Amino acid sequence: MRLRRLTLTAAAAVATLTLAACGGGAADPGDGAPPPPVAENPTFEPGTTMAELSEAGSITIGTKFDQPLFGLKTLDGELVGFDTEIARIIAGGLGIAPEDINWVEAPSAQREALLERGEVDMVVATYTINEERAQRVSFAGPYYEAGQTLMVRSDNTDITGPESLRDSGAKVCTVTGSTPSQNIRPFIDENQLVLFGTYSECRDSLGNGQVDVVTTDNVILLGYVSESDGAFKLAGEPFTKEPYGIGIPKGDVAFCEFVNQQLTEAAESGAYAAAWEATAGAVSEDTPILPELAPCS
Ligand code: GLU
Repeated sequence: MRLRRLTLTAAAAVATLTLAACGGGAADPGDGAPPPPVAENPTFEPGTTMAELSEAGSITIGTKFDQPLFGLKTLDGELVGFDTEIARIIAGGLGIAPEDINWVEAPSAQREALLERGEVDMVVATYTINEERAQRVSFAGPYYEAGQTLMVRSDNTDITGPESLRDSGAKVCTVTGSTPSQNIRPFIDENQLVLFGTYSECRDSLGNGQVDVVTTDNVILLGYVSESDGAFKLAGEPFTKEPYGIGIPKGDVAFCEFVNQQLTEAAESGAYAAAWEATAGAVSEDTPILPELAPCS
């Protein structure tokens, strides 16, 4: 796969990603991700989620299956991406090896319900922390901050940012249950909005001309641009802040604090940076710094 090298101009703030030049020989995202350290016989207070998961020796994690750079299921069934690496690091802290993770696809609209029904133990899936979601789930993190932007076909010169959407009459695709589907509404008329269940459906519709724009987080769109062989490009700058959290069952403060501790240790040990460099780092020059973690509640 040919990937385009991009420059991450604001690493810890809202990432501003600019197509810079072609980068020959970049590895596929996910290649060479270092195996996460797996704790040997860690001990946890009895009755905690950590004790239960560690004792069981396996964990079920919701993630995206169709988002290159963050969560992509390859043809041989492997999960690759920054989200899946972060998830493997947390599992490792529980003494759970990567092969003992059960991956469940977690489309945007289903993340809260998957956690509420107990079908997953945590969700690591380009999952923006916001108040509405925090009514139903708890969030550890944030572990990254993205920003919403637009993706168009490379020959499109009309769309320059969200303000240009209404006048252009463009069909704008995003995903049900996502923050982009809410954030884009002030910029478009109702009949311009096209909603699908996953971003890869939006990408395919952009490719075949059914829609003119895909809108979601810059790092998700960047994954599609990088594998489009020049067919797609980003348009305009990020216009929202999307702090990514790790969703866990509502009110499990001890588990949230454990996850935050794993993130802090990963930042200190270099595992966080290595996870980025092995995945999204294939198309961005600057490695982000772990954002300040929010208190658990
Ligand atoms: N981060 C945004 C959200 O959580 C968009 C990406 C996604 O849908 O996964 O809604």
